Amino acid sequence: MGEYSIFSVAREALRGHSGWKPTWRDAAPKPDYDIVIIGGGGHGLATAYYLAKEYGNARVAVLEKGWIGGGNVGRNTTIVRSNYLLPGNIPFYELSMKLWEGLEQDINYNAMVSQRGILNLYHSDAQRDAYARRGNAMRLHGVDSELLDQSAVRQMVPFLNFDNARFPIHGGLLQRRGGTVRHDAVAWGYARAADRRGVDIIQNCEVKGFRIEDNRVVGVETSRGFIGAKKVGMAVAGNSSRVAAMAGLKLPIESHVLQAFVSESIKPFIDGVVTFGAGHFYISQSDKGGLVFGGDLDGYNSYAQRGALPVVEDVCEGGMALMPRIGRVRLLRSWGGIMDMSMDGSPFIDRTPIQGLYFNGGWCYGGFKATPASGLCFAHLIARDQTHDVAKAYRLDRFATGHAIDEKGMGPHPNLH
Ligand SMILES: Cc1cc2nc3c(=O)[nH]c(=O)nc-3n(C[C@H](O)[C@H](O)[C@H](O)COP(=O)(O)OP(=O)(O)OC[C@H]3O[C@@H](n4cnc5c(N)ncnc54)[C@H](O)[C@@H]3O)c2cc1C
Repeated sequence: MGEYSIFSVAREALRGHSGWKPTWRDAAPKPDYDIVIIGGGGHGLATAYYLAKEYGNARVAVLEKGWIGGGNVGRNTTIVRSNYLLPGNIPFYELSMKLWEGLEQDINYNAMVSQRGILNLYHSDAQRDAYARRGNAMRLHGVDSELLDQSAVRQMVPFLNFDNARFPIHGGLLQRRGGTVRHDAVAWGYARAADRRGVDIIQNCEVKGFRIEDNRVVGVETSRGFIGAKKVGMAVAGNSSRVAAMAGLKLPIESHVLQAFVSESIKPFIDGVVTFGAGHFYISQSDKGGLVFGGDLDGYNSYAQRGALPVVEDVCEGGMALMPRIGRVRLLRSWGGIMDMSMDGSPFIDRTPIQGLYFNGGWCYGGFKATPASGLCFAHLIARDQTHDVAKAYRLDRFATGHAIDEKGMGPHPNLH
């Protein structure tokens, strides 16, 4: 398959676009592989890509029960950032940000990486102090951050409801390198790049069980038959508990619904991402002009990829409180995804007690931005059987050993993280 470039676009334009090949092969399962990754979301595909590229593993398959991009990777609100507070998190998310910055050249795919900034608004002195602390922690780790006062925020986003609101805006914490990346292009781009390095991407192939002998995984039972594997990695996001249960594992994870919304297209007026620190509302504008926004979890356990109307109302109320002028824009679509909510809001990239079986999950509602680093660190763990330096905190036993990473300070309440 040829490189995507200005020259290939021009060549295809001249010959009626007859020469484009499928973006990845429709591979049939082989009897066995060195490594099988369960889950063709962003994390599974990125893991397969880095396994092939960085660690020279070509006998790799990604098994996806549905279609590539049908899970959370194609359902999120596309925000990327590395504005974390805790030492266990900042280096990991900053590595991810750096990988985003070079991703399109790396995988030869236009993922529309758009670093137009993320602005977290604060509404009280206490919240300003918390953001100052967060910003300082980021800078100590070499990550960009700026604390803005109200006048600086007014200059950036003059149309917010500054004075006449229940929670007046006092300022914001800005990470200029934050922004958005087109989510399904990330799935397609990693799928194509992994396929080009020999990875088999197998859609409509649901894992229904594990074959485990003497506490070592030897393969997976799937809807398309048994597939042998020396090593198996789980990257199934909202289905983590269900898939791990097939191997007899119980995870510190609950599955919850999160909804997202998009409006009709309007002329550009929101440049970057704005988050409303007093309610739970965040918004950006897509390149097509739609306002893309979201808010809280629905608040109940579910495996359904859809949410309920009270949260639609709650999110829209948050939007109206922050920027009343969007009240006349029509809502076009809303949808839901299944979140793998961990007990402290932070993820896991770790071995399991079963030899050769590895786990990646607990991404909550923030795993899209983690996709490149998660893939790289999971590939490192699987290939070398060693934890990557920036993922050392993401252990499955951290609650037993007292090393929870409670970034949000909500305690063991997944629905609040
Ligand atoms: C509404 C919404 C908004 C969000 N906004 C953001 C955001 O702005 N920024 C951010 O960083 N994150 C955000 N997230 C979170 C982010 O999307 C997820 O954390 C991340 O995509 C999860 O990793 P993934 O891409 O691998 O998951 P998925 O795409 O869900 O991949 C998992 C795959 O596993 C497959 N699978 C499950 N069970 C099996 C099985 N038995 N056999 C084979 N395959 C199986 C599924 O079909 C699925 O395709 C949001 C999520 C949602 C739903």
